[in-house]
Amino acid sequence: MAISLHPSIDSGIKPGSASFAGGTLSCKCTSDPVKVSVASQVAHNHACGCTKCWKPAGAKFSVVAVVGRDKLSVTANGDKLKVVDATAAIQRNACSGCGVHLFGRIENQKHPFYGLDFIHVELSPESGWQEPQFAAFVSSTIEGGTNPADMGAVRARFAELGLPTYDALSPPLMDAIATHVAKASGVLHA
Ligand SMILES: [Zn+2]
Ligand SMILES: [Zn+2]
Repeated sequence: MAISLHPSIDSGIKPGSASFAGGTLSCKCTSDPVKVSVASQVAHNHACGCTKCWKPAGAKFSVVAVVGRDKLSVTANGDKLKVVDATAAIQRNACSGCGVHLFGRIENQKHPFYGLDFIHVELSPESGWQEPQFAAFVSSTIEGGTNPADMGAVRARFAELGLPTYDALSPPLMDAIATHVAKASGVLHA
C-alpha cells in the first residue's frame, strides 16, 4: 500500500485541460454553503505540507493553487467567511460553519504574490483544473503530525506520482520572491 498523501492525488495525477476556464468552489456545509466563483484556470497548483493550508481530514498534504484575485468572487453566503489569522501574510478566508478555507488573499501590496489568491480546486465539482505540478514545504508535514520515519516513503510516493519535492516553494516561485525583494532593495534594476 502506497502512503496516503491527499485524496485527489493518491490514485494518480489526472492532467488538467488547456481549455478549462474556471468553476465554483463550495464549502462542506450541508445547508447554506459558501460559494466562490473562479473565472479562470489556476496556476502553480501543488501539494503543500505546511500546517496553515486547509486540508481534508486525514490528509498529510493540502492541494493549493493560485488565481488572480480579480477572477474570484464570493457568490453565496459570504457572511459565513472569517479570516483565520489576520496577521498572516496569506489571509485565509474560512467558513465559520465547516472550517473549510474558501480562499487565501494577500492584502499587503508589497508582498511578492500580491494580486494572487490561493484556492483548493478540490472544492469544485468541475474537472479540468490544472493538475498539481510539485510538492512544497514537504518537510513541514512533520510539524503537522507525520512521523519523521515516514518521510522516505512520502518523498518516494511523490516521485512515483511525478511530482518533484521541495522543502520551500518551487524554484520559479522562490526566484520570483527573490527578484521582487532584489528590486525593492535596489540591488536589481527593473
Ligand atoms: Zn461551510
Ligand atoms: Zn501550505
